[in-house]
Amino acid sequence: MRKKIVAGNWKMNKTLPEGKQLIKSIIDELNHRNNKEVKIVLAPSFVHLQNAVELVSEFNQISVAAQNCSDKSSGAYTGEVSAEIINSVGCEYVIIGHSERRLYYLETNNILSEKVNQALNNQLHVIFCCGESIEERNDQKHFEIIKSQLTEGLFQISDNQIDKIVIAYEPVWAIGTGLTASPEQAQEMHQFIRMVVSEKFGEHKANNISILYGGSCSSSNAKSIFNQKDVDGGLIGGASLKSVDFVDIINSF
Ligand code: PEP
Repeated sequence: MRKKIVAGNWKMNKTLPEGKQLIKSIIDELNHRNNKEVKIVLAPSFVHLQNAVELVSEFNQISVAAQNCSDKSSGAYTGEVSAEIINSVGCEYVIIGHSERRLYYLETNNILSEKVNQALNNQLHVIFCCGESIEERNDQKHFEIIKSQLTEGLFQISDNQIDKIVIAYEPVWAIGTGLTASPEQAQEMHQFIRMVVSEKFGEHKANNISILYGGSCSSSNAKSIFNQKDVDGGLIGGASLKSVDFVDIINSF
């Protein structure tokens, strides 16, 4: 059975004290109402990682993710953070290929494939993001774009390594905009992604991979999206910054 996952991408929000407080409130909230079937992943900024790992250490259900890692292993790359350093603080996941990284930091599929390799070589699970722009969808290119993002950025990995991957489908037009893919649009793309994974890694691996939806997911729309057959959870931005909203989403399955 594939894992249900709800991951919170805090992006560049929360100071260290605010982040500690948010994690405490999430745990507090979960102690009152918790869907134990769901794996929870918190992705604060790098500065928070070690604290976050310590704060969730009693709570096996929660893991911590970095929002990015370097495509290089170590050395003179000022300002970068390697997968090895991320792993060394007890972090288990890393988000790779978020559309904001692709757009603002010009991360190409080629660079992303190097990041994925670095992450896997350092025992991290990868949440690999893909998603089309509104122009690409209007031009009916969305399936083609998603397939090339996966093929060029992710599919260099081995059959064994695919077990460490979670895919997040995040249509760029839905991120932070308040626009959400309809449950049918999400299902259509998730089914397509599973088929593309199956073509490369076989049906068994494809059936076991978790595919998350991301893009203005909230407590009011999570239920209808998570109800879809090929949607295994969500990558949540804005709504992950408030404990009540985030735990509402966790309880939407
Ligand atoms: C995200 O950035 O991964 C995201 C899904 O953001 P939001 O939920 O705010 O649209």
